[in-house]
Amino acid sequence: QDESTDIVVIGAGGAGLSAAVEATNAGAKVIVLEKMPMVGGNTTRATGGLNAAGTEAQKKKGIEDSQELFYQDTMKGGHNKNNPELVKILTTQAKDSVVWLESMGADLSDVGRAGGASVSRIHRPTGGAAVGSNVISTLKNKVKEQNVDVRVKNKAVAIIKDEQGKVTGVKAENKDGKAYTINAKAVILATGGFSANQEMVISYKPELKGFATTNHPGALGEGITLGESVGANLVDMAEIQTHPTVVPEKGVMVTEAVRGNGAILINKDGKRFINELLTRDVVSKGILDQKDGVAYLFFDDGLRKGLKAVEEYFNMQLVTEADSVEELADKIGVDKDAMMKSVKTYNDAVAAKQDKEFKRDDLPLQLNQGKVYAIQVTPAVHHTMGGLQINTNAEVMNKEGQVIKGLYAAGEVTGGVHGGNRLGGNAMADIVTFGRIAGQNAAKAAK
Ligand code: ADP
Repeated sequence: QDESTDIVVIGAGGAGLSAAVEATNAGAKVIVLEKMPMVGGNTTRATGGLNAAGTEAQKKKGIEDSQELFYQDTMKGGHNKNNPELVKILTTQAKDSVVWLESMGADLSDVGRAGGASVSRIHRPTGGAAVGSNVISTLKNKVKEQNVDVRVKNKAVAIIKDEQGKVTGVKAENKDGKAYTINAKAVILATGGFSANQEMVISYKPELKGFATTNHPGALGEGITLGESVGANLVDMAEIQTHPTVVPEKGVMVTEAVRGNGAILINKDGKRFINELLTRDVVSKGILDQKDGVAYLFFDDGLRKGLKAVEEYFNMQLVTEADSVEELADKIGVDKDAMMKSVKTYNDAVAAKQDKEFKRDDLPLQLNQGKVYAIQVTPAVHHTMGGLQINTNAEVMNKEGQVIKGLYAAGEVTGGVHGGNRLGGNAMADIVTFGRIAGQNAAKAAK
């Protein structure tokens, strides 16, 4: 016996849950399928924050920003390969996404600086705590309150369409591997990216062979295959981002906020080598060019006090600590004199408000308070910018440039929003903003 509903959402990460909340708000009956044992997907791992321009939180801090500047930063960061229409939506509506999340109890009151952003616009919980878990628990509570039918350990295995090519439902497998069919008026693909699918990653970008990933094990890209099976067009598939500061042995990504809040990168020769706030592609390449392809994030107690997110790295024992730069250099095995000189030169630059060496324009604090710390990092596969082509209504497009009726997509499974390189903070903005759009439009179509 087949089931029937208005909308099936495939994937319960940030995009899928945002879509589910909005579709339910619009009066649609929604079933969410999530193959993993829990909801949250890779979104739970997001530590940085959510980019938005013109928010109350920015105003309170006296930060002058505009949607136009946000647009320009995003296009420039993406090497202008982004779909401008999608970026326009992202940069004008992210602010509403913040208001929307806050109205359900999310905490996005702290604003920080991230790579590639001209001003501070990455929104995160008080004290710089991780954003993903906060947003996911907010959305999870909301769908519970709305009585949405969320099915974990239920995997979508096929999309069904009729003879006219309209999507009419989903074939799924329940937790016992039993197949069943859900007929639906609309289907939303929100399955995330494919960073954890090494074979798929290197099929598009061979040079990433052997790279570790920061992603959850479910990021395997089935949504791409599901979309393709009903004729979806794929864009930017070779655009795959590495995150520059990862501890691969532990599978941990050190959030960009550490650099944003003032940490510097030091190589094995004890030298700074780059403006730490350049975009992820540039900083990743910069690190790979250093001895052994690694670098150390260097910071102190002053930074630690202002950024709660770092405590996790202490708990996980990723951090080498010392009472002085000299001692720290000894412990991590880099040249003492060079490292002391690098730190001093940097602190002088902070005092002079000018980084002559590497032109870093945001110099928040001198690194000379209390203890000093180092974390050894290297790049790992982090985000797949490419995916299903969508239009501004989050409708999936086919290879002939037409809408595939009844099929919507949002989040990392889509391509076009981030172009050739995603800015830190833009994934959260993307998944919530386009997740909402997908949910709203799918609900309209289901009426
Ligand atoms: P986004 O950031 O775009 O929301 P996430 O990675 O946070 O992406 O969430 C995507 C979710 O989709 C993950 O929880 C993942 O386990 C789930 N998922 C992926 N493929 C399937 C599938 N075939 N069926 C059901 N759920 C899936």
